[in-house]
Amino acid sequence: MGTDVSAVVERIYDEVLRRNPGEKEFHQAVREVLESLAVVLARHSEYAEMKTIERICEPERQIIFRVPWQDDSGEVHINRGFRVEFNSALGPYKGGLRFHPSVNLGIVKFLGFEQIFKNALTGMPIGGGKGGSDFDPKGRSDAEVMRFCQSFMTELYRHLGEYTDVPAGDIGVGAREIGYLFGQYKRITNRYESGVLTGKGLGWGGALVRTEATGYGAAFFAQAMMEVRGDSLDGKRVVISGSGNVAVHGVDKVHQLGGTVVAVSDSDGYVVDEKGIDLDVLKQVKEVERARISEYADRVAGAEFVEGGSIWDVPCDVAMPSATQNELDVDAARTLARNGCRYVVEGANMPSTPDAVDVFREAGIAFAPGKAANAGGVATSALEMQQNASRDRWSFEHSEAKLEEIMRGIHTRCHETAEEYGAPGDLVLGANVAGFLEVAEAVHAHGLI
Ligand code: GLU
Repeated sequence: MGTDVSAVVERIYDEVLRRNPGEKEFHQAVREVLESLAVVLARHSEYAEMKTIERICEPERQIIFRVPWQDDSGEVHINRGFRVEFNSALGPYKGGLRFHPSVNLGIVKFLGFEQIFKNALTGMPIGGGKGGSDFDPKGRSDAEVMRFCQSFMTELYRHLGEYTDVPAGDIGVGAREIGYLFGQYKRITNRYESGVLTGKGLGWGGALVRTEATGYGAAFFAQAMMEVRGDSLDGKRVVISGSGNVAVHGVDKVHQLGGTVVAVSDSDGYVVDEKGIDLDVLKQVKEVERARISEYADRVAGAEFVEGGSIWDVPCDVAMPSATQNELDVDAARTLARNGCRYVVEGANMPSTPDAVDVFREAGIAFAPGKAANAGGVATSALEMQQNASRDRWSFEHSEAKLEEIMRGIHTRCHETAEEYGAPGDLVLGANVAGFLEVAEAVHAHGLI
Protein backbone atom coordinates (compact mmCIF):
# COMPACT_ATOMS: atom_id res chain seq x y z
CA MET A 1 0.00 0.00 0.00
CA GLY A 2 1.64 3.28 -1.11
CA THR A 3 1.70 6.19 1.32
CA ASP A 4 -0.38 8.36 -1.01
CA VAL A 5 -3.15 5.74 -0.95
CA SER A 6 -3.27 5.85 2.86
CA ALA A 7 -3.20 9.63 2.67
CA VAL A 8 -6.19 9.60 0.29
CA VAL A 9 -8.12 7.36 2.69
CA GLU A 10 -7.30 9.62 5.67
CA ARG A 11 -8.34 12.71 3.73
CA ILE A 12 -11.67 11.12 2.81
CA TYR A 13 -12.28 10.13 6.42
CA ASP A 14 -11.42 13.60 7.73
CA GLU A 15 -13.88 15.10 5.28
CA VAL A 16 -16.63 12.68 6.44
CA LEU A 17 -15.93 13.70 10.06
CA ARG A 18 -16.03 17.39 9.21
CA ARG A 19 -19.20 17.14 7.19
CA ASN A 20 -21.15 14.88 9.55
CA PRO A 21 -20.33 16.11 13.06
CA GLY A 22 -21.37 13.95 16.01
CA GLU A 23 -22.61 11.00 13.92
CA LYS A 24 -20.38 8.43 15.61
CA GLU A 25 -22.02 5.27 14.27
CA PHE A 26 -21.80 6.66 10.74
CA HIS A 27 -18.12 7.52 11.26
CA GLN A 28 -17.51 4.00 12.56
CA ALA A 29 -19.17 2.36 9.56
CA VAL A 30 -17.30 4.59 7.09
CA ARG A 31 -13.96 4.02 8.84
CA GLU A 32 -14.36 0.25 8.63
CA VAL A 33 -15.10 0.33 4.90
CA LEU A 34 -12.32 2.83 4.17
CA GLU A 35 -9.76 0.67 5.93
CA SER A 36 -10.54 -2.09 3.43
CA LEU A 37 -10.44 0.16 0.38
CA ALA A 38 -6.78 1.19 0.38
CA VAL A 39 -6.02 -2.02 -1.53
CA VAL A 40 -8.61 -1.07 -4.14
CA LEU A 41 -7.22 2.43 -4.62
CA ALA A 42 -3.76 0.95 -5.05
CA ARG A 43 -5.07 -1.05 -8.04
CA HIS A 44 -7.65 1.36 -9.48
CA SER A 45 -6.35 4.92 -9.71
CA GLU A 46 -9.55 5.98 -11.52
CA TYR A 47 -11.52 5.68 -8.28
CA ALA A 48 -9.27 8.24 -6.63
CA GLU A 49 -9.36 10.54 -9.67
CA MET A 50 -13.14 10.43 -9.97
CA LYS A 51 -13.64 10.75 -6.19
CA THR A 52 -15.76 7.60 -6.29
CA ILE A 53 -15.40 6.84 -2.58
CA GLU A 54 -16.25 10.41 -1.61
CA ARG A 55 -19.36 10.25 -3.80
CA ILE A 56 -20.47 6.98 -2.21
CA CYS A 57 -19.91 8.39 1.31
CA GLU A 58 -22.29 11.29 0.61
CA PRO A 59 -25.99 10.30 0.57
CA GLU A 60 -27.85 11.20 -2.60
CA ARG A 61 -30.73 12.60 -0.53
CA GLN A 62 -31.58 12.92 3.20
CA ILE A 63 -35.16 13.46 4.26
CA ILE A 64 -36.12 14.52 7.78
CA PHE A 65 -39.75 15.15 8.68
CA ARG A 66 -42.16 15.76 11.52
CA VAL A 67 -44.52 12.97 12.54
CA PRO A 68 -47.38 14.18 14.75
CA TRP A 69 -49.81 11.64 16.22
CA GLN A 70 -52.28 11.24 19.05
CA ASP A 71 -52.20 8.50 21.70
CA ASP A 72 -55.26 6.66 23.03
CA SER A 73 -55.76 9.21 25.80
CA GLY A 74 -55.80 12.07 23.30
CA GLU A 75 -52.34 13.39 24.11
CA VAL A 76 -50.41 14.70 21.11
CA HIS A 77 -46.87 13.46 20.39
CA ILE A 78 -44.32 14.72 17.91
CA ASN A 79 -41.70 12.32 16.58
CA ARG A 80 -39.05 12.73 13.94
CA GLY A 81 -39.01 10.66 10.75
CA PHE A 82 -36.00 9.96 8.53
CA ARG A 83 -35.26 8.45 5.15
CA VAL A 84 -31.72 8.52 3.84
CA GLU A 85 -31.63 7.67 0.13
CA PHE A 86 -27.99 6.78 0.04
CA ASN A 87 -27.12 5.29 -3.31
CA SER A 88 -29.15 4.30 -6.36
CA ALA A 89 -26.37 3.09 -8.68
CA LEU A 90 -27.60 -0.51 -8.66
CA GLY A 91 -31.35 -0.02 -8.34
CA PRO A 92 -34.05 1.79 -6.37
CA TYR A 93 -33.06 2.73 -2.81
CA LYS A 94 -33.74 -0.32 -0.67
CA GLY A 95 -33.53 -0.80 3.08
CA GLY A 96 -35.62 -1.03 6.20
CA LEU A 97 -37.35 1.37 8.54
CA ARG A 98 -36.40 1.27 12.21
CA PHE A 99 -38.72 2.52 14.95
CA HIS A 100 -36.72 2.87 18.16
CA PRO A 101 -36.07 5.75 20.58
CA SER A 102 -32.33 5.63 19.73
CA VAL A 103 -32.94 6.49 16.07
CA ASN A 104 -31.27 9.68 14.87
CA LEU A 105 -29.73 10.86 11.60
CA GLY A 106 -26.31 9.34 12.36
CA ILE A 107 -27.79 5.91 13.06
CA VAL A 108 -29.90 6.00 9.90
CA LYS A 109 -26.85 7.06 7.88
CA PHE A 110 -24.69 4.26 9.26
CA LEU A 111 -27.41 1.76 8.43
CA GLY A 112 -27.97 3.24 4.97
CA PHE A 113 -24.24 3.22 4.24
CA GLU A 114 -23.92 -0.44 5.24
CA GLN A 115 -26.98 -1.22 3.17
CA ILE A 116 -25.30 -0.01 -0.05
CA PHE A 117 -22.60 -2.68 0.17
CA LYS A 118 -24.85 -5.37 1.63
CA ASN A 119 -27.33 -4.95 -1.19
CA ALA A 120 -24.55 -4.99 -3.77
CA LEU A 121 -23.25 -8.28 -2.35
CA THR A 122 -26.62 -9.95 -2.91
CA GLY A 123 -26.13 -9.51 -6.66
CA MET A 124 -29.72 -8.20 -6.89
CA PRO A 125 -30.63 -4.88 -8.57
CA ILE A 126 -31.15 -2.80 -5.41
CA GLY A 127 -29.57 0.45 -4.21
CA GLY A 128 -29.06 1.39 -0.58
CA GLY A 129 -31.24 3.39 1.81
CA LYS A 130 -32.60 3.35 5.34
CA GLY A 131 -35.14 5.18 7.41
CA GLY A 132 -37.10 5.21 10.59
CA SER A 133 -38.17 7.24 13.55
CA ASP A 134 -37.40 7.83 17.22
CA PHE A 135 -40.95 6.58 17.95
CA ASP A 136 -40.97 3.88 20.65
CA PRO A 137 -43.56 1.21 19.86
CA LYS A 138 -42.95 -0.55 23.18
CA GLY A 139 -46.15 -0.57 25.24
CA ARG A 140 -48.19 1.17 22.53
CA SER A 141 -51.61 -0.18 21.52
CA ASP A 142 -52.35 -1.39 17.99
CA ALA A 143 -54.42 1.72 17.38
CA GLU A 144 -51.56 3.99 18.45
CA VAL A 145 -49.08 2.15 16.22
CA MET A 146 -51.55 2.44 13.33
CA ARG A 147 -52.02 6.18 13.80
CA PHE A 148 -48.26 6.67 14.00
CA CYS A 149 -47.66 4.63 10.82
CA GLN A 150 -50.36 6.56 8.97
CA SER A 151 -48.86 9.90 9.95
CA PHE A 152 -45.36 8.69 9.04
CA MET A 153 -46.49 7.53 5.59
CA THR A 154 -48.52 10.68 4.96
CA GLU A 155 -45.20 12.48 4.67
CA LEU A 156 -42.95 9.72 3.33
CA TYR A 157 -45.18 8.49 0.48
CA ARG A 158 -44.10 11.29 -1.89
CA HIS A 159 -40.53 9.98 -1.83
CA LEU A 160 -41.37 6.32 -2.45
CA GLY A 161 -42.21 4.16 -5.44
CA GLU A 162 -41.36 0.72 -6.74
CA TYR A 163 -38.76 2.27 -9.07
CA THR A 164 -37.65 4.93 -6.61
CA ASP A 165 -37.38 3.84 -3.00
CA VAL A 166 -38.66 0.62 -1.42
CA PRO A 167 -38.64 0.43 2.40
CA ALA A 168 -39.10 -2.70 4.51
CA GLY A 169 -38.93 -3.50 8.21
CA ASP A 170 -36.10 -3.37 10.72
CA ILE A 171 -36.08 -3.13 14.54
CA GLY A 172 -39.60 -2.17 15.70
CA VAL A 173 -41.14 -2.57 12.23
CA GLY A 174 -42.66 -5.94 11.34
CA ALA A 175 -45.62 -7.20 9.33
CA ARG A 176 -48.14 -5.21 11.42
CA GLU A 177 -46.40 -1.88 10.78
CA ILE A 178 -45.75 -2.68 7.09
CA GLY A 179 -49.49 -3.35 6.80
CA TYR A 180 -50.48 0.03 8.21
CA LEU A 181 -47.83 1.79 6.10
CA PHE A 182 -48.95 0.00 2.93
CA GLY A 183 -52.61 0.76 3.61
CA GLN A 184 -51.89 4.47 3.95
CA TYR A 185 -49.69 4.54 0.81
CA LYS A 186 -52.43 2.82 -1.16
CA ARG A 187 -55.06 5.20 0.13
CA ILE A 188 -53.08 8.36 -0.65
CA THR A 189 -51.85 7.30 -4.09
CA ASN A 190 -54.86 5.25 -5.17
CA ARG A 191 -52.42 2.65 -6.49
CA TYR A 192 -52.04 -0.99 -5.49
CA GLU A 193 -48.30 -0.73 -5.94
CA SER A 194 -47.18 -3.96 -4.29
CA GLY A 195 -43.51 -3.39 -5.02
CA VAL A 196 -43.32 -0.17 -2.98
CA LEU A 197 -42.76 -1.97 0.33
CA THR A 198 -41.43 -5.41 1.20
CA GLY A 199 -42.12 -7.62 4.18
CA LYS A 200 -45.84 -7.51 3.32
CA GLY A 201 -48.36 -10.03 4.64
CA LEU A 202 -48.66 -13.26 2.69
CA GLY A 203 -52.23 -12.59 1.56
CA TRP A 204 -51.50 -9.19 0.03
CA GLY A 205 -48.26 -9.39 -1.93
CA GLY A 206 -45.85 -10.69 0.67
CA ALA A 207 -43.37 -13.45 -0.10
CA LEU A 208 -42.84 -16.76 1.63
CA VAL A 209 -39.56 -16.95 3.57
CA ARG A 210 -39.24 -13.13 3.85
CA THR A 211 -40.03 -13.29 7.59
CA GLU A 212 -37.50 -16.04 8.21
CA ALA A 213 -34.92 -14.76 5.73
CA THR A 214 -32.44 -12.77 7.83
CA GLY A 215 -32.08 -15.41 10.55
CA TYR A 216 -32.11 -18.32 8.10
CA GLY A 217 -29.65 -16.50 5.88
CA ALA A 218 -27.21 -15.89 8.75
CA ALA A 219 -27.30 -19.59 9.60
CA PHE A 220 -26.71 -20.53 5.94
CA PHE A 221 -23.80 -18.10 5.87
CA ALA A 222 -22.37 -19.63 9.06
CA GLN A 223 -22.64 -23.06 7.51
CA ALA A 224 -20.85 -21.96 4.31
CA MET A 225 -18.11 -20.27 6.31
CA MET A 226 -17.60 -23.35 8.45
CA GLU A 227 -17.55 -25.68 5.44
CA VAL A 228 -14.49 -24.00 3.89
CA ARG A 229 -12.79 -24.68 7.22
CA GLY A 230 -13.82 -28.35 7.11
CA ASP A 231 -16.40 -27.80 9.85
CA SER A 232 -20.19 -27.48 10.20
CA LEU A 233 -22.92 -26.29 12.57
CA ASP A 234 -23.77 -29.88 13.43
CA GLY A 235 -23.23 -30.49 17.15
CA LYS A 236 -22.13 -26.90 17.85
CA ARG A 237 -23.11 -24.81 20.87
CA VAL A 238 -24.48 -21.51 19.65
CA VAL A 239 -25.38 -18.27 21.45
CA ILE A 240 -27.67 -15.82 19.66
CA SER A 241 -28.25 -12.39 21.22
CA GLY A 242 -31.62 -10.72 20.77
CA SER A 243 -35.03 -12.32 20.50
CA GLY A 244 -36.54 -10.36 17.63
CA ASN A 245 -37.15 -11.51 14.10
CA VAL A 246 -33.49 -12.25 13.26
CA ALA A 247 -32.75 -14.18 16.46
CA VAL A 248 -35.97 -16.24 16.44
CA HIS A 249 -35.45 -17.51 12.90
CA GLY A 250 -31.73 -17.90 13.50
CA VAL A 251 -32.58 -20.30 16.34
CA ASP A 252 -34.90 -22.21 14.02
CA LYS A 253 -32.35 -22.71 11.23
CA VAL A 254 -29.38 -23.43 13.53
CA HIS A 255 -31.45 -26.22 15.12
CA GLN A 256 -32.42 -27.58 11.70
CA LEU A 257 -28.72 -27.66 10.79
CA GLY A 258 -27.85 -29.67 13.89
CA GLY A 259 -26.55 -26.94 16.23
CA THR A 260 -27.95 -26.13 19.68
CA VAL A 261 -28.79 -22.56 20.61
CA VAL A 262 -28.32 -22.36 24.37
CA ALA A 263 -29.03 -18.66 25.01
CA VAL A 264 -31.06 -15.70 23.69
CA SER A 265 -31.65 -12.25 25.18
CA ASP A 266 -33.54 -8.98 25.24
CA SER A 267 -32.72 -5.60 26.78
CA ASP A 268 -33.60 -6.90 30.29
CA GLY A 269 -31.14 -9.84 30.30
CA TYR A 270 -30.65 -13.30 28.85
CA VAL A 271 -31.97 -16.83 29.25
CA VAL A 272 -29.86 -19.96 29.21
CA ASP A 273 -31.49 -23.25 28.28
CA GLU A 274 -28.91 -26.01 28.03
CA LYS A 275 -31.38 -28.35 26.27
CA GLY A 276 -31.65 -25.87 23.42
CA ILE A 277 -34.06 -22.93 23.15
CA ASP A 278 -37.63 -24.15 22.64
CA LEU A 279 -38.72 -22.32 19.48
CA ASP A 280 -42.46 -22.58 20.17
CA VAL A 281 -42.14 -21.04 23.63
CA LEU A 282 -39.80 -18.34 22.31
CA LYS A 283 -42.25 -17.42 19.55
CA GLN A 284 -45.21 -17.44 21.91
CA VAL A 285 -43.45 -15.12 24.39
CA LYS A 286 -41.81 -12.69 21.97
CA GLU A 287 -44.02 -12.70 18.88
CA VAL A 288 -47.53 -13.54 20.08
CA GLU A 289 -47.51 -11.95 23.55
CA ARG A 290 -44.79 -9.34 22.85
CA ALA A 291 -43.62 -10.09 26.42
CA ARG A 292 -40.17 -10.03 28.04
CA ILE A 293 -37.63 -12.84 27.60
CA SER A 294 -37.71 -13.56 31.38
CA GLU A 295 -41.12 -15.14 30.70
CA TYR A 296 -39.34 -17.91 28.80
CA ALA A 297 -37.54 -19.04 31.98
CA ASP A 298 -40.85 -18.95 33.90
CA ARG A 299 -42.31 -21.45 31.43
CA VAL A 300 -39.49 -23.84 30.60
CA ALA A 301 -38.19 -26.18 33.31
CA GLY A 302 -34.42 -25.94 33.71
CA ALA A 303 -34.10 -22.62 31.88
CA GLU A 304 -32.47 -19.78 33.78
CA PHE A 305 -33.01 -16.02 33.40
CA VAL A 306 -30.02 -13.78 34.12
CA GLU A 307 -31.05 -10.18 34.67
CA GLY A 308 -28.69 -7.63 33.08
CA GLY A 309 -25.22 -9.04 32.52
CA SER A 310 -23.73 -10.10 29.22
CA ILE A 311 -24.99 -13.00 27.14
CA TRP A 312 -21.41 -13.35 25.83
CA ASP A 313 -20.42 -14.82 29.21
CA VAL A 314 -22.19 -18.01 28.08
CA PRO A 315 -19.54 -20.30 26.54
CA CYS A 316 -20.17 -21.27 22.91
CA ASP A 317 -18.53 -22.42 19.67
CA VAL A 318 -20.49 -19.97 17.53
CA ALA A 319 -21.70 -16.49 18.54
CA MET A 320 -24.38 -14.79 16.48
CA PRO A 321 -24.92 -11.21 17.70
CA SER A 322 -28.41 -10.46 16.40
CA ALA A 323 -29.72 -7.62 18.59
CA THR A 324 -28.32 -4.19 17.67
CA GLN A 325 -25.24 -2.10 16.85
CA ASN A 326 -22.21 -2.17 19.15
CA GLU A 327 -23.75 -4.74 21.50
CA LEU A 328 -20.56 -6.85 21.55
CA ASP A 329 -17.61 -4.89 22.95
CA VAL A 330 -13.95 -5.66 23.51
CA ASP A 331 -14.52 -7.25 26.93
CA ALA A 332 -17.23 -9.52 25.54
CA ALA A 333 -14.92 -10.44 22.63
CA ARG A 334 -12.12 -11.38 25.07
CA THR A 335 -14.55 -13.50 27.09
CA LEU A 336 -15.72 -15.29 23.95
CA ALA A 337 -12.11 -15.95 22.89
CA ARG A 338 -11.14 -17.19 26.37
CA ASN A 339 -14.13 -19.56 26.39
CA GLY A 340 -13.11 -21.13 23.08
CA CYS A 341 -15.55 -19.48 20.65
CA ARG A 342 -14.39 -20.13 17.07
CA TYR A 343 -16.92 -18.31 14.89
CA VAL A 344 -18.72 -14.98 15.13
CA VAL A 345 -21.49 -14.42 12.59
CA GLU A 346 -23.28 -11.07 12.75
CA GLY A 347 -27.07 -11.29 12.40
CA ALA A 348 -27.52 -7.61 13.32
CA ASN A 349 -25.99 -4.56 11.63
CA MET A 350 -22.53 -3.73 13.05
CA PRO A 351 -23.13 -5.45 16.44
CA SER A 352 -19.39 -5.86 17.12
CA THR A 353 -17.30 -2.80 18.02
CA PRO A 354 -14.07 -2.26 16.02
CA ASP A 355 -12.00 -3.28 19.08
CA ALA A 356 -13.99 -6.47 19.40
CA VAL A 357 -13.28 -7.31 15.75
CA ASP A 358 -9.55 -6.78 16.42
CA VAL A 359 -9.78 -9.29 19.29
CA PHE A 360 -11.44 -11.84 16.97
CA ARG A 361 -8.62 -11.36 14.44
CA GLU A 362 -5.88 -11.80 17.04
CA ALA A 363 -7.60 -14.86 18.52
CA GLY A 364 -8.02 -16.49 15.11
CA ILE A 365 -11.82 -16.45 15.42
CA ALA A 366 -13.48 -16.57 12.00
CA PHE A 367 -15.64 -13.45 11.68
CA ALA A 368 -18.54 -12.74 9.32
CA PRO A 369 -19.59 -9.06 9.15
CA GLY A 370 -23.30 -8.23 9.15
CA LYS A 371 -23.28 -6.70 5.70
CA ALA A 372 -22.50 -10.17 4.34
CA ALA A 373 -24.05 -12.51 6.91
CA ASN A 374 -27.38 -10.73 7.40
CA ALA A 375 -28.01 -9.93 3.73
CA GLY A 376 -30.60 -12.71 3.49
CA GLY A 377 -33.39 -10.37 4.58
CA VAL A 378 -32.88 -7.76 1.94
CA ALA A 379 -32.08 -10.40 -0.70
CA THR A 380 -35.45 -12.01 -0.03
CA SER A 381 -37.03 -8.55 -0.21
CA ALA A 382 -35.63 -8.37 -3.74
CA LEU A 383 -37.22 -11.76 -4.42
CA GLU A 384 -40.50 -10.34 -3.10
CA MET A 385 -40.16 -7.42 -5.55
CA GLN A 386 -39.56 -9.93 -8.36
CA GLN A 387 -42.71 -11.82 -7.45
CA ASN A 388 -44.69 -8.57 -7.22
CA ALA A 389 -43.45 -7.41 -10.63
CA SER A 390 -44.42 -10.68 -12.29
CA ARG A 391 -47.60 -11.08 -10.18
CA ASP A 392 -46.32 -14.47 -9.18
CA ARG A 393 -46.02 -16.40 -5.94
CA TRP A 394 -43.25 -18.90 -5.28
CA SER A 395 -43.35 -21.89 -2.94
CA PHE A 396 -41.57 -21.93 0.41
CA GLU A 397 -39.13 -24.59 -0.84
CA HIS A 398 -38.24 -22.67 -3.99
CA SER A 399 -37.74 -19.40 -2.07
CA GLU A 400 -35.65 -21.03 0.63
CA ALA A 401 -33.45 -22.76 -1.96
CA LYS A 402 -32.93 -19.36 -3.63
CA LEU A 403 -32.00 -17.80 -0.29
CA GLU A 404 -29.46 -20.52 0.44
CA GLU A 405 -27.95 -20.13 -3.02
CA ILE A 406 -27.67 -16.35 -2.54
CA MET A 407 -26.03 -16.69 0.91
CA ARG A 408 -23.55 -19.26 -0.36
CA GLY A 409 -22.85 -16.96 -3.32
CA ILE A 410 -22.17 -14.01 -1.00
CA HIS A 411 -19.82 -16.12 1.07
CA THR A 412 -17.91 -17.33 -1.99
CA ARG A 413 -17.60 -13.81 -3.29
CA CYS A 414 -16.30 -12.41 0.01
CA HIS A 415 -13.95 -15.34 0.46
CA GLU A 416 -12.51 -15.15 -3.07
CA THR A 417 -12.20 -11.36 -3.04
CA ALA A 418 -10.27 -11.53 0.24
CA GLU A 419 -7.85 -13.98 -1.36
CA GLU A 420 -7.53 -11.93 -4.52
CA TYR A 421 -6.67 -8.81 -2.51
CA GLY A 422 -4.07 -10.53 -0.36
CA ALA A 423 -6.08 -11.08 2.84
CA PRO A 424 -7.18 -14.74 2.85
CA GLY A 425 -9.94 -15.49 5.34
CA ASP A 426 -10.65 -11.79 6.00
CA LEU A 427 -14.36 -11.59 5.23
CA VAL A 428 -14.53 -7.95 6.34
CA LEU A 429 -12.12 -6.94 3.60
CA GLY A 430 -13.74 -9.37 1.15
CA ALA A 431 -17.23 -7.95 1.77
CA ASN A 432 -16.18 -4.32 1.64
CA VAL A 433 -14.07 -4.67 -1.49
CA ALA A 434 -16.54 -6.88 -3.41
CA GLY A 435 -19.49 -4.63 -2.47
CA PHE A 436 -17.60 -1.45 -3.29
CA LEU A 437 -16.39 -2.66 -6.71
CA GLU A 438 -19.93 -3.59 -7.74
CA VAL A 439 -21.27 -0.15 -6.81
CA ALA A 440 -18.24 1.78 -8.08
CA GLU A 441 -18.48 0.27 -11.57
CA ALA A 442 -22.11 1.32 -11.87
CA VAL A 443 -21.40 4.79 -10.45
CA HIS A 444 -18.76 5.27 -13.15
CA ALA A 445 -20.95 3.99 -15.92
CA HIS A 446 -23.60 6.58 -15.02
CA GLY A 447 -21.19 9.52 -15.36
CA LEU A 448 -20.59 12.36 -12.93
CA ILE A 449 -24.03 12.71 -11.38
N1 GLU B 1 -33.71 -4.15 7.61
C1 GLU B 1 -33.15 -5.25 6.88
C2 GLU B 1 -31.67 -5.03 6.70
O1 GLU B 1 -31.02 -4.50 7.58
C3 GLU B 1 -33.92 -5.56 5.60
C4 GLU B 1 -34.04 -4.46 4.61
C5 GLU B 1 -34.96 -4.75 3.43
O2 GLU B 1 -35.49 -5.85 3.33
O3 GLU B 1 -35.12 -3.83 2.62
O4 GLU B 1 -31.06 -5.42 5.74
